[in-house]
Amino acid sequence: MSQHIQSKLPTVGTTIFTLMSSLAVEHNAINLGQGFPDFMMSDELIALVNRAMQKGNNQYVHMNGLPLLRERIAEKIQSLYNASLDPEKEITITPGGTYAIYTALTTILQPGDEAIVFEPAYDSYIPTIEMNGAIPVLIPLQFPDYSIDWELVKEKISSKTKVVLINSPHNPTGSVLSKNDIEQLQNIVRDTNIFILSDEVYEHLIFDDLPHHSMLLYPDLLERSFVCFSFGKVYNCTGWKIGYCIAPAALMAEFRKIHQFNCFSCNSPVQFALAEFLQQKDAYLQLGDTMQKKRDLLQKLMQQTKFMPLVSHGSYFQLYDYSKITNESEKDFAIRLTKEFGVATIPTSVFYKTETDNKVLRFCFAKKEATLEAAVERLIKL
Ligand code: GLN
Repeated sequence: MSQHIQSKLPTVGTTIFTLMSSLAVEHNAINLGQGFPDFMMSDELIALVNRAMQKGNNQYVHMNGLPLLRERIAEKIQSLYNASLDPEKEITITPGGTYAIYTALTTILQPGDEAIVFEPAYDSYIPTIEMNGAIPVLIPLQFPDYSIDWELVKEKISSKTKVVLINSPHNPTGSVLSKNDIEQLQNIVRDTNIFILSDEVYEHLIFDDLPHHSMLLYPDLLERSFVCFSFGKVYNCTGWKIGYCIAPAALMAEFRKIHQFNCFSCNSPVQFALAEFLQQKDAYLQLGDTMQKKRDLLQKLMQQTKFMPLVSHGSYFQLYDYSKITNESEKDFAIRLTKEFGVATIPTSVFYKTETDNKVLRFCFAKKEATLEAAVERLIKL
């Protein structure tokens, strides 16, 4: 018999991404659930990692990240967002975006603090807030365009509000922040001590010629922000688990105190390779077009089915309304779809703590054309 352990997360089970991916394998289903590309990443980037290993770059690099990689990130940010960052003090390489978010929230939050979270929300946000003894203050995004009701945000802000979590392009809905959203956010945080946690892992996955309103573009927002990024989403290698966080020096110094005892330093050959590959701007600048084509293909194919698209302007994802097919709950339907029809998706309800069931499933379109076609062949039968 094993010893009893008191759970830090008593109401939490295994993440839906792992559950649905396992179910997809078990039932030989096409996996449009968990967000990852099924097509090959750049051969050149793989070769650069091999070369870095063969050259002997296999020991720890600096705990905050390979200096050259941080410099190259700073150059990229200067050219894309016109922000001058000190790579020594304001950029830290992390093992992925989720880790950056975890570390940033742990840096910011004290027990009893309130954190504003828009629902639906990426599934790590709320458990991370709760593990820090803080309180998630939940605000629903407005169905069906998932825009922010800023009047409601103003009502929910209190003297205990410590951080607002922002995610654009948004997982799971594909909504993106507008200039008006930025202005509203600026007005709300002005003259307060509120921090911003900005999850921008889909920065390049933005469609329809919309601009990405990064916190890096707005000095008054950046001065209070931790901004989190993922190379996995940029270079189609989610399994590499490598990303970075950006914050003003004083905030980053606290972030690094936590980071040094958790991950300490990230995979070194990958950092050498990324430092070199970052110089090829096209590799990230063309990503939005590539992924938009996939969104459009899925949308065109899905016209043959009873699923109805909601608007997606970014990310890997598009939500589809299935209310013409069945009245089943999102979870039940997603499971049946995997088991009986061989297509795995994610029920949008799992991104809510407040019970919500709009009869919409999240589809990941970051897949080969053949995968999307094969999936829709199966969905036509419904
Ligand atoms: N971000 C990815 C998604 O939303 C998955 C991340 C994960 O599996 N933890 O599908």
